[in-house]
Amino acid sequence: MSLITNHMPTAELQALDAAHHMHPFTTNDELADKGARVITRAEGVYLTDSDGNRILDGMAGLWCVNIGYGRKEMAEVAARQMMELPYYNTFFMTTHVPAIALSQEIARLAPEGLNHVFFAGSGSEANDTNIRMVRTYWAEKGKPAKTHIISRKNAYHGSSMGSGSLGGMSYMHAQGGMPIPGIHHIGQPDWWAEGGEMNPEEFGLARARELEAKIEELGEQNVAAFIAEPVQGAGGVIVPPDSYWPEVQRICDKYEILLIADEVICGFGRTGNWFGSQTMGIRPHIMTIAKGLSSGYQPIGGSIVCDQIAEVIGAAEFNHGYTYSGHPVAAAVALENLRILQEEQIIERVRTVGAPALKAGLEGLTDHPLVGGLSIKGMMASLPLTPDKESRARFAAPTGTVGLICRERCFANNLVMRHVGDRMIVSPPLIIEPEDIDVFMTRARTALDETYAELKAQGLLTPPA
Ligand SMILES: *Cc1c(COP(=O)(O)O)cnc(C)c1O
Repeated sequence: MSLITNHMPTAELQALDAAHHMHPFTTNDELADKGARVITRAEGVYLTDSDGNRILDGMAGLWCVNIGYGRKEMAEVAARQMMELPYYNTFFMTTHVPAIALSQEIARLAPEGLNHVFFAGSGSEANDTNIRMVRTYWAEKGKPAKTHIISRKNAYHGSSMGSGSLGGMSYMHAQGGMPIPGIHHIGQPDWWAEGGEMNPEEFGLARARELEAKIEELGEQNVAAFIAEPVQGAGGVIVPPDSYWPEVQRICDKYEILLIADEVICGFGRTGNWFGSQTMGIRPHIMTIAKGLSSGYQPIGGSIVCDQIAEVIGAAEFNHGYTYSGHPVAAAVALENLRILQEEQIIERVRTVGAPALKAGLEGLTDHPLVGGLSIKGMMASLPLTPDKESRARFAAPTGTVGLICRERCFANNLVMRHVGDRMIVSPPLIIEPEDIDVFMTRARTALDETYAELKAQGLLTPPA
């Protein structure tokens, strides 16, 4: 085995990467031509790449590094746990202290009535658990026809067969035989892109009522659950109109269907509360968790399950689980993450300092000629780019062309902002300080100016005729 280190020249690392590493959600041939950006270190909210650039991470990795990078306590806990018990499973009547302690702590922090945790290695796995769990629940209750699950277009619930089917990404469904049978997708509450002439509140109600129409179409006796992110993340940080969630909750209450809140991004402080369900005022039966649960320091996810479902599932053997369900090192690290979030009052600080500063900064960018608005909840936000703010028009180029240009200009200015279509996405570590939010805004404005100049040069500043 050759020794590959941080000190190798970037080009050599890129060549090795291109030769052997298949990247997720990437055109690998194109990446091989351009060369991947090699991240070597990180501290606080800054990444360092192999050329020594110091890059402000406006995405917290993939929405997950809530406590920021470089926390020594996390490494120490992992090392200690590895020495004591690096692995043991939780199948076959066994358990261990990290899984016990973490499930207890999650139950304590979760909303009332959600007291049981089924662990997984990721958000995708947890959502696969949810599919099987809600169907098993209804079967055990003597209603085996209740198998259909309703989700939303442009939702993101993971990339496995089950979770990718729950998700509503058409470009994912186009490959590999998704969605699996029994999953249905209704419209998303994306007023900016799809609201047309309706006002946001009318549009929110209309989209919520698609749930009721779908339940009636399928028959309540056939529907197991509705799954949704409290605020859509990967779909473009779509904050629903205020009218949306109360109506969805009313519909879930009226019909006998379970509500699954996918909290993989919203959970653990992102929206200013422990869970997005609290921020949006909903009462789910199951919450999917991952990402911020460990701040990304270890791969871990799970389903937080209400008493009613846990009681039914507990009465028979549930033939489901993962080798790494409740992995002791991941559980110990997640527990340390929850301790840090609490002791340092990071979520309170999101409410009082971080989110207001982020909102003020981003509002400052909305006067830019390309920025068509601001969608924000807590510390997740998006800026839709448009050639015409008034009509919320699309660009003449295919969707995503302009977003990609802007993302590249951000990187060139040492800022990570991701693009979803032509929306720019913001989701920094929750511990970001106001001075770094200022740095963010300065770099973002430069990137937007450079994007504008490039669009002008390419003749892309007018909406399609
Ligand atoms: C990231 C994400 C997932 C999938 O989690 P993985 O750990 O990547 O499998 C599921 N749901 C939501 C809302 C996510 O953002």
